[in-house]
Amino acid sequence: MKKQTPGRAPCLALDVGGTKIEAAVVHPDGSMSTRRRLRTEPESPELLHDVLGLLRATREQGDQDVAVVGVGCGGPMSGRGRWVSPLNIPAWRDLALREAIEEELHLSCFVDNDAKALALAEGCYGAAVDLDNYLSMVVSTGIGGGLVIDGDLLDGRDGNAGHIGHVIVEPDGRECACGSRGCLEAEASGPAIAAISGRAPSEADEETKERTGRLVGRAVASAASLLDFRDCFVAGSVALGFGEPFFRSANDEAAVRARIAHAQGLRITASKLGEDGPLLGAAMVAWRGEW
Ligand SMILES: [Zn+2]
Repeated sequence: MKKQTPGRAPCLALDVGGTKIEAAVVHPDGSMSTRRRLRTEPESPELLHDVLGLLRATREQGDQDVAVVGVGCGGPMSGRGRWVSPLNIPAWRDLALREAIEEELHLSCFVDNDAKALALAEGCYGAAVDLDNYLSMVVSTGIGGGLVIDGDLLDGRDGNAGHIGHVIVEPDGRECACGSRGCLEAEASGPAIAAISGRAPSEADEETKERTGRLVGRAVASAASLLDFRDCFVAGSVALGFGEPFFRSANDEAAVRARIAHAQGLRITASKLGEDGPLLGAAMVAWRGEW
């Protein structure tokens, strides 16, 4: 299987996150121009209108024509990106985002989960350039994942493959926004950490950082046993903000839990994409759609 590569021409990229929404013109070499952002108002009925305005302004300011739009958005979704229902944006339920963008800009648009988008970017511009089997994760307001196996990004029936945030890590744990209990996202996301510890993740103590790492390591260990990969790259403000204690605990837990031969030696490390990751991912979604 050949791995996904960038397109030949620049594209318009949009990253829809729980706290900010960002757009840019992204070039095949990974550089960006005319980058703009707005704060996410998760309950606002005007949010779609504002996002379309952001895209229009970004495109108009760009000095180059773009032919395609790519979007990375929080999950879940249905119709392989046709309708999105990001858990952290209650104003959007079964929103036909792709159609709205296509009508507004008269360009083709492709939408995918933001963590899947990140997995594509990691394979092209980041730490997974030489890898055909890995998991990419985002540990932030929500927790998402994207799996590249045999060089291909896994989509699944409705496009939701890789949703590691809803793997159970504490069977009798906290209630999750998805309706279940003890999901990784209900225990280790930013809002979960704030609810459990009474402090913002930016003020978390050592024990909270280690517990968060441990739970992520637990989920990754199960996934590695199931899917036969040895590398996991983690992005997101919670994981990267916690740093060393988080990654140490995640790797220690993974070493204890993933005992079957093919999952031993599992490495959980930081994404190499930095701040550009989400937009590079959205661009890869556009180019993958064109491919
Ligand atoms: Zn859940």
